Amino acid sequence: MTKAVFPGSFDPITLGHLHLIERAARLYEEVIIVIAVNSSKHALFTIEERRALIEENIRSAANVRVDVAEGLLVEKVKELQATVMLRGVRDLQDFAYEKQIAWANHELDPSIETICMFAAEGYGALSSSIIREFASYGKDVSRYVPANVAKAIAEKYADKRKEKSSVSISNENTAAVKEMGNTMFDWLRENHIPFSRKDLITEALTHSSYLNEHKEMVHDNERLEFMGDAVLQLWTTEKLFRLKTPLDEGKMTTLRSQLVCEAALAHYNRELGWGQYLLLGVGEERTGGRERDSLLADMFEAMLGALYLDQGMQPVSMILERVLTPAIDEPKNEVLIDYKTKLQEVVQADTRKTLQYELLNTQGPTNHPEFEMAVLLDGIVLGKGKGNSKKRAEQMAAKAAFEKMAR
Ligand code: ADP
Repeated sequence: MTKAVFPGSFDPITLGHLHLIERAARLYEEVIIVIAVNSSKHALFTIEERRALIEENIRSAANVRVDVAEGLLVEKVKELQATVMLRGVRDLQDFAYEKQIAWANHELDPSIETICMFAAEGYGALSSSIIREFASYGKDVSRYVPANVAKAIAEKYADKRKEKSSVSISNENTAAVKEMGNTMFDWLRENHIPFSRKDLITEALTHSSYLNEHKEMVHDNERLEFMGDAVLQLWTTEKLFRLKTPLDEGKMTTLRSQLVCEAALAHYNRELGWGQYLLLGVGEERTGGRERDSLLADMFEAMLGALYLDQGMQPVSMILERVLTPAIDEPKNEVLIDYKTKLQEVVQADTRKTLQYELLNTQGPTNHPEFEMAVLLDGIVLGKGKGNSKKRAEQMAAKAAFEKMAR
């Protein structure tokens, strides 16, 4: 009996997915829709909500059911005793991505066959992310998703709007922010960094996971991160341009990308000791978000954005002179060669996907542990690496994957 697994995020399920499932159900004895859990901060529906929304739409199909995969997808396929991994192909971008994944799957387990089905006429441009985007602007999505999903989306956004309009803009008065944010205000004062906009500083400290749990907050730090990214680029570019020994354009470009990569920004944040002021949701805190490079880097940029909007370049410059200028003199420092970002860029160019890192193994005495981490794309291992910290092992895993791809 041939069982097929159809994996995806399904956030939310669309008519494109359902059409493909209907066709697959005619080909295979059983089709199992597997919701792959990944920690994307942009998820609209929880896994359980997604599951319920899918289940309501497959009731009439006796040979279709839903399951959830937390770890490696191949393991889940094996556990379900399926032999086919079904994928949908909409365009060349999907094709390039699926080709890579099919190859990796085959390397991991030659008994699993990847089968790609083309999107049906009219569904070739439809994706869950477009639905989320449309819905966030209040556009009616009922032409693209089943009725229950359209209803759930409308409710979700109505709730969000209600929450946001009922809170006051001056969110710095909330107890939580007072408790955490004041400490950042103290830090700025102690370090003679000028600021007056406490609301912007608070926004820069707010991770999306905190916003989700604290209805009184209005914004997370993503918009300020966007601002800070530009400020950081400008400051660093000017700094490199004015170096005593002039560098050519190519060298400046390489050096700048090393100085502002994610690992470098997280490193600056740690030097300043700002991580403690980050406002995180409970789940993110529990899973070590406060130590994660990506969160620390985002917060660092958001703080630069906030200080710039508040006071112009002066406070930005005071901070960057302290942490970034010394790094210019030691560009060979390993921390600045950020394979995680390099790899993410390569993958993103093809696929819009986010890489995940998973701890495989910990060995050695507790004071000298050695970690082994794997880098995964959609549950598939692209590379493995070891190191004396999880961060280092992640970098080594990304390096291995990056070098494998470059071959
Ligand atoms: P993923 O995060 O794996 O892309 P999705 O939920 O977006 O998860 O998609 C799951 C699968 O469905 C993927 O193989 C994707 O290519 C396919 N798919 C998505 N939208 C469509 C569509 N409109 N028509 C056909 N296949 C689709």
